[in-house]
Amino acid sequence: MFETYEERMRQMKLYVIGIGPGGEEQMTLRAVRALEKCDCIAGYRLYLELIADLIAGKEQIQTGMMREVDRCTAARDAALAGKTVAVVSSGDAGVYGMAGLMFELCEGKDIDIEVIPGITAACSGAAVLGSPLTCDFAAISLSDLLTPWEVIEKRVLHAAQGDFAMALYNPASKKRTDHLRRVCDIILTIQPPETICGLVSNIGREGESYQLLTLGKLRDTPADMLTTVFIGNSRTRVISGRMVTPRGYRGV
Ligand code: SAH
Repeated sequence: MFETYEERMRQMKLYVIGIGPGGEEQMTLRAVRALEKCDCIAGYRLYLELIADLIAGKEQIQTGMMREVDRCTAARDAALAGKTVAVVSSGDAGVYGMAGLMFELCEGKDIDIEVIPGITAACSGAAVLGSPLTCDFAAISLSDLLTPWEVIEKRVLHAAQGDFAMALYNPASKKRTDHLRRVCDIILTIQPPETICGLVSNIGREGESYQLLTLGKLRDTPADMLTTVFIGNSRTRVISGRMVTPRGYRGV
């Protein structure tokens, strides 16, 4: 398991980079520097467009959203061919991103994978709303493409029972329009309809917007795949128009 520095340097290098929610401003310096070192960048088209200035002139491997395995396999093969490759994900690559898949695809290959963290939508969206995730929270994706729907329902129910604030990723897509409503109905069996919730769309991108509303209203509110949904816990309240889950400091 313990490899020497020399052994590591002999390996091919592959970066898996979280580029944050939007453009360059919310990327880490480490991510920018790693991109500079790469010859070849793989990612979903929209993400490559967001960082177009940083990767101008570099080879690009892009495919549509549904071709993740093909894209990551092509990235691995480019690394094996001796190129310095970056696979980019929005937000953090280890949160519903490509990092896990890259480890699976590179298992047994002589490739050194360096994961560079990014600001995930839970954090960037929370900052837009105020401070909804100050205490314990659960991140749950409502996409049932890779997780069975019953498992998602179970996780949401248990998070509500545990009084976790929640950041809900992938609240809807063109094909899945009722997932958010179904999940709200589960949470409503535990929490009151007045529970404070928030929606944030296009975080860090053109058209960024947010909305504060109650759980009862959220149930009937459409969300799209560029939105992250925040469900407050029993302590969450609105302070000066922002969504805040107090930590519970005394004397405030
Ligand atoms: N790896 C990403 C998540 C990818 S899953 C991350 O760490 O943020 C895709 C989901 O993330 C979207 O459906 C949405 O819920 C959320 N998301 C990602 N970027 C977003 C943005 N800029 N604005 C709002 N939601 C975003």
